[in-house]
This record gives sequence, structure tokens and C-alpha cells, in this order.
Amino acid sequence: MPLAQLVMNLRWSWHPDTRDLFEALDPDLWRTCGGDPVKVLGEVSAARLATLAKDRRFVRRLSDVVEDLDEYLTAPHWYQSLGAEAPASIAYFSAEFGITEVLPQYSGGLGILAGDHLKAASDLGVPLIGLGLLYRAGYFEQGLSADGWQLEHYPALDPHGLPVKLLRQPDGSAVVVSVPLPEGRTLHAHVWRAQVGRVSLLLLDSDIEENAPTERGVTDRLYGGDEDHRLRQEMLLGIGGVRALRAYCQLTGTPAPEVFHANEGHAGFQGVERIRELTESHGLSFGEALQAVRAGTVFTTHTPVPAGIDRFPRALIERYFAGFGVPLEHLIPLGAEDDPAKFNMAHMGLRLGQRANGVSRLHGEVSRGMFSDLWPGFDEADVPIGSITNGVHAPTWTARELVDLGTQSSSLGDPNEREETTSFDGVDRISAGELWSIRRMLRGRLVEEVRRRLRETALSRGATEAEVGWTDAAFDPDVLTIGFARRVPSYKRLTLMLRDPERLKALLLDADRPVQLVIAGKSHPADDGGKQLIQQMVKFADDPAVRHRIAFLPGYDIGMARYLYWGCDVWLNNPLRPLEACGTSGMKAALNGGLNLSIRDGWWDEWFDGQNGWAIPTADGVADPDRRDEVEARAIYELLGSQVIPRFYETDRDGIPSRWVEMVRHTLRETGPKVLATRMVRDYVQRLYVPAAGSARVMADGGYAPAREESAWRARVHERWGAIRVAHVEATGAGDTPEIGTTLALRAEVELPGLAPADVQVQAAYGRVDDADGLHDVTTVPMTLEHADGSRHWFTATVPLERTGAFGYTVRVLPDSAHLADPAELGLVTSA
Ligand SMILES: *Cc1c(COP(=O)(O)O)cnc(C)c1O
Repeated sequence: MPLAQLVMNLRWSWHPDTRDLFEALDPDLWRTCGGDPVKVLGEVSAARLATLAKDRRFVRRLSDVVEDLDEYLTAPHWYQSLGAEAPASIAYFSAEFGITEVLPQYSGGLGILAGDHLKAASDLGVPLIGLGLLYRAGYFEQGLSADGWQLEHYPALDPHGLPVKLLRQPDGSAVVVSVPLPEGRTLHAHVWRAQVGRVSLLLLDSDIEENAPTERGVTDRLYGGDEDHRLRQEMLLGIGGVRALRAYCQLTGTPAPEVFHANEGHAGFQGVERIRELTESHGLSFGEALQAVRAGTVFTTHTPVPAGIDRFPRALIERYFAGFGVPLEHLIPLGAEDDPAKFNMAHMGLRLGQRANGVSRLHGEVSRGMFSDLWPGFDEADVPIGSITNGVHAPTWTARELVDLGTQSSSLGDPNEREETTSFDGVDRISAGELWSIRRMLRGRLVEEVRRRLRETALSRGATEAEVGWTDAAFDPDVLTIGFARRVPSYKRLTLMLRDPERLKALLLDADRPVQLVIAGKSHPADDGGKQLIQQMVKFADDPAVRHRIAFLPGYDIGMARYLYWGCDVWLNNPLRPLEACGTSGMKAALNGGLNLSIRDGWWDEWFDGQNGWAIPTADGVADPDRRDEVEARAIYELLGSQVIPRFYETDRDGIPSRWVEMVRHTLRETGPKVLATRMVRDYVQRLYVPAAGSARVMADGGYAPAREESAWRARVHERWGAIRVAHVEATGAGDTPEIGTTLALRAEVELPGLAPADVQVQAAYGRVDDADGLHDVTTVPMTLEHADGSRHWFTATVPLERTGAFGYTVRVLPDSAHLADPAELGLVTSA
């Protein structure tokens, strides 16, 4: 039946026509089922279906939607124009995936990003396969006690009621993936397949009869349990994930992935499993297999705080991997860090991935600093971690009315498929009146939703029907609406706005120009500090004097988030800079014409342009955290009072706040195209996936001969590096007072005992010198071999003198091979 087929492809979650069709099955049921088409289809009456089967208009609509999906799944898209260099398939591992509220397998930004990555890959035709776990209780459902304390409910999800299908053998039996555990135990899992447009997402589920009770519980919850529990989850994700992938590719005839992308450190064991595979299938040594695996691996870090990094006791790893098939003497160094008792999953991610990135320009910089110990001898700027700024999936997060108006069209063609970002100039054809009225409509829709949720929450916290009448008139569709919704770790500072409660109250209750605030967010169940912040917020918002203007809504999820992004005029974000790796909620608001009011952190540091919102000045330099909060909170109140509020309420003769609407228009036109997940995925493909596939192919050539050679070469270089010496450098040509425009001839004598000149690159590095003799704004040029005498080699280069001020130079030697993605890769450098 085509309806069942439509339900099983999650494209419905971002395709309005398909959702409309499900709604038309039974509008009341659609509402009571919370927009979950699997439930609707399970509950709709046979009589109703029989009536619809005879309804010619419904049947035509159904076949149109089915045809549209078919076309979407088969037509060539952007990726199909790339040619043979592009990888045949790509595996994408993540501990969480947020695709729709119907499949609650996410806790926050990381998971939503992974979901958006799959959706955008599907839109672009990128042959991605997602790998994750199916958590039987998801993350948790959030409620509130009468006194404002977070309550956690763990719903039991039955996969048979979810839009997922069991991966089966041709004989109909379920595919079972197994991972060895200590003491002769084995962890088994089934594989559920969710279809996200063109992309398959495989989710491993340990709650099956083949397992003993402890192992059955491995996939119980996302981010729950102790270290042992988390390690078992990560082993299932990484090792089981690769095994599930092999089974899936074989059963479906899908080409084996050439690129493996680890979204955060949790899935690091996928690389270990692939090393084990190669040592067994091709007789490679650990070092040789490592070269082959690294070449095709991409690692993305999302954590700008050392405390946020996933680490295990080393002894635990030794216990779990004792009999795995990769010797501990090789495995343990992959996760080595300062503390010899720890095994660091991010460090393993960086050592297993030849290419690595952070998730915004600023976060790239922070990551290069944070992980610079892995590349000793290099400046932070030379640490081989780049950045690709996150994006969000526009069809999922944009109000359809805005899309229908043309806010995401460009005169230069489909912006999703273009190489360079253009502007959404279609928005210029929309009048200010139209834009403003649609913004009001979206705000009104949010107000309705807030009222509904306020009432429901009040009842759940023990209020009687007689006491909740006030919710009918809470919030106002014509009042400036500010949103703040995100997880509640302390660095996001949920309660910063409460710093001066009287001042906030005055803003909320201003007689002429009030503001209203919608707040939401979950605290990790083990984080009582976060729960206290929520309680503080709830208590403030419970006050009858302000409760019609400020609300904390429990149960933040994709379903609630959409109303917030659509309807908020201002999206507030006040993290402690630079602890927000990227932040994506503000991007979703921007796609709907919301203006950001944010600390310049993450993406906002990069794309705040003076017209798409306001930057809250950060007090980075203030060491005392309390003082810093004070300064930044005051800046928020001041910006609101002096700029945000007046601009919103200053209307022209037609009642339109034209300066506000121009900011909305500017945001839609200029910020919109930058924040697209399709832009992000194109960046990943071009800058990481295609080069990684190239490297992986080279390494695998001729039975992995290049991987063997590379491994031997690296061993030799490491062994002999200590003996390299820049013996002497001389400069001629500039005289005592160098003049701009002249050149300097450098000649260096370098001792390379046991290595050939081709094993290294000798560079002249020059730039500005500071008082401490440090080099800045460094430019490097390769030096050429002039002649050799035994192990002594002379290299030369000509360096232009192109700036005034103190000029300095040095000579440095780095390993060189055609297989390097970055000269700093081996972490080896010797300077004069
Ligand atoms: C976008 C989103 C997030 C992430 O928001 P940040 O700004 O990155 O904190 C979390 N939860 C939901 C439901 C979202 O839609």
C-alpha cells in the first residue's frame, strides 16, 4: 500500500504535501497522535480508509505524492554531477540522530545536526549511510514537579511502532550483529533501518532475546549509565556499526563505503574494527592497517571544553579489548593523553582520522589550541584541524508560508546546488507589509502553542481546571517575542537574564513596549546544577505578576522547537565565549526571519554582520565569572532597552516597523543561504570526503602496497628524526638595513643521517619578529636542494622583503610524502 510506503520514508517529516495527506486521513486523529503518521495509520478506522479509497481526489493526491517521492529518490542531484572522484558511499557515525520528534533518538544540538546532515545529504544525492543506536527509552521526556524541579520520564519505545524496518536475511530471519565482551560474553544486536529520503540510517538495538539481561540493556538510554555502560554502547556503535554496515551493503548491493565520518569521539572504535578487519583479511600489520584506515577517515570534534571530552579509564579499555584482535600495545596509544590512566576518545578520533575539523571558524581555532599537544613543536595555527561551519536543514526548520512566499529563492538558480553561496534575493520581491504580516501570523501561532502548553503544564503540576483560566490570555500576538531554548549545561547560562530580576520585570511589564519570553530546555538527568537553574527560572515565571509574559515550557524537542523558530522575533543566546562550538538554533530562527541577539560565539562570531541582529559584547577578559555575568547581563538589558525594543515598536504610517522589517529581510536574504545544511554537506564533500576517498583509494591500491610502504616510511622517519639538524643558515643580499622590495638569499646546511632529501621538505619561514624573537604572520617557502655531501645537504631559497619593521626568518625541516594531507601530520618538525 502506498500509504505504508510513504510513512516508512521519513521524508514526510520535512515535506509539507506528504504531511497534509496524512492529516487528511483523519484531521482529529492527526492532532491527537501529535502528527505521528505511524500512529495515525495504525489507528485510522478501516471504514475511513475504505471511504478514502473511493475518493477520487484523495487517490489522485496520494498518487501525486508517491510520484513526487519516487522522483526525489531516483533523479540525479548535485552529487551525481561530481564524477568518479567522489566516493561510492560514505558511512556517517553518530551517537544520536534527531530527525523527527517521532523518532526521539537525540538529546540536543549534536543529534539534530546529525539528522540535518543526513537530510541535506539526501537532498544533494550524497550516498551516505548513517550508523547509530536505537535507544529503547530515547533520551527522556521532561516534566516539572509542582515546585519546578525537572522530572524525567522514560517512555518505552517499541520499534514496531516506529518508522523503522528490521534488517533481514534473504530467508526472513533478522540480521544479528555481535561484538565480543570480556569474560567470554557476547553482545548481540538487531539492526533497524530508517529511511531518510535517499539515505539509510542503521540503528543497532541490543534489546533482543539472544542477549543476557545485562547486554539487553546496553541500548536502553542515550547518555545514561556508568562508564562500563557507556563503553559497551560505544563498542556497539563503533564495532557493531561497522559489522552492521558490512551486512547491509552485502544484502542490498550497496558499494562499500570509501569514507568513514565519525561525528564526535563516541564512534571511534569504528576505526579500530576496520584495522582489525584489514589485519585479518589482508595480513597487514597494525601500522599498515592504520595507514589504510586513517586515509579514509574524517573526524569532527564538537567539544570546546576539555571537561566535555569522552574519556575512559585505561584499565577499562584494557579489560574490554584484551581479546579483541587488535593488540593492546597498539590500541592504548591511540587514546593516549596527559593522564596515563585515561583513554581519550577525541585523541583517538584525531589519530584515526587523517582529516579533522571543528564546527565553526572560531571553534576550529579553539580546537587547534586545545589539541595542540598532539602536534608538539608546531604553532597552534599549524595544527591540522580545519573547520566547517554547521548548517541547518531549511525544509525541516522553515515555516512553509515563508518558503511559499519565495524567501528561499535566488535569481541565480537553486541555491542548494550552487557552488558558491548566493543571496536569497527572492525576498526582495516581497513587500514590507507582507513580510510583517507573515511574521505576525507566525508569532500568533506560537502564542497559541504557548497557551496550550502552559495550560497542560499547569495541570500536570497539580493545578485544577479552575486555576488555569489565565493561560487563555497569556502572551500576546503583538508583543515583541524573545526565545531562549537549548540544553542546560552551565556554560549556556539559562538564568543570565535573571541577573537583575527587577530590571527584567520592568521590561516584561512595560505598559507601552513590553516584551515576552519563551524559554525551554532539558538538563542532563545527572546534572542537579542544571535542574536548579531550571527551577529558578520556573519559580520566576510562576509569579502571577509576570506569568503572562514569561514561560518556561517543559519538553523541549523538535516538535516544540519549530514553533519557537517560526514565531520568535528575537533569538537570545548568551553562552560563555568560546564554549559554544557552533550553536544552530539561532540559524533556524534566522531562516524564519528571527533576529539574533547573541554573544559573539560559534557561528555568530563569523556571520553577525551588523544588520542581522545584535552582538552582545562579551567580557572575555574578565576573569571573575560573577563579574563577567554581571557585565554581560547588563549589556543584554541595555541592548534590549536602547535598540531592540525601540526598533520593534517604531512603526511608520502604515503601522509597519519598517526598520525592523528591513533587518528581517536582510537576515533572510544574506544569512539564510549561509546557514544551510546543504552548504555544510557540500563543504564536507568537497573539502573532506572527496580528498579522503582519494587517499583511501591510493592506500588500497595493489593489495594495500602503498599502505605498507607508508607505514615503513613513517617508522623510519620517526626512528631517525632525532638526528636531523639544521647545522647552519646564512643570508646574503640584504645588507645591514634591509629595504622593502629587495630579496634575501638563504642557504641552509641540513644534516639528514639515514634519510634522503626526498623524505623531507626544508622550508624557509619568515615574518615579523617580536621582542621575544618570536615569528608572526609567518610565510613559508620550500627550499631547493643545491648539493649533498654524504648526510650533509645544502638547500637554498630566495625570500622577498615585503614589509617594514623587524624582519626575521628561520629554516625548518618537516617530513614529506605524497600521502600527507597536511605537513604537520606526523607531528615532527626540526627548526634552525
Ligand atoms: C537546534 C536544536 C538544538 C541545538 O540548539 P543549539 O543552539 O545548538 O543549542 C537543540 N534542541 C533542539 C530541539 C533543536 O532543534
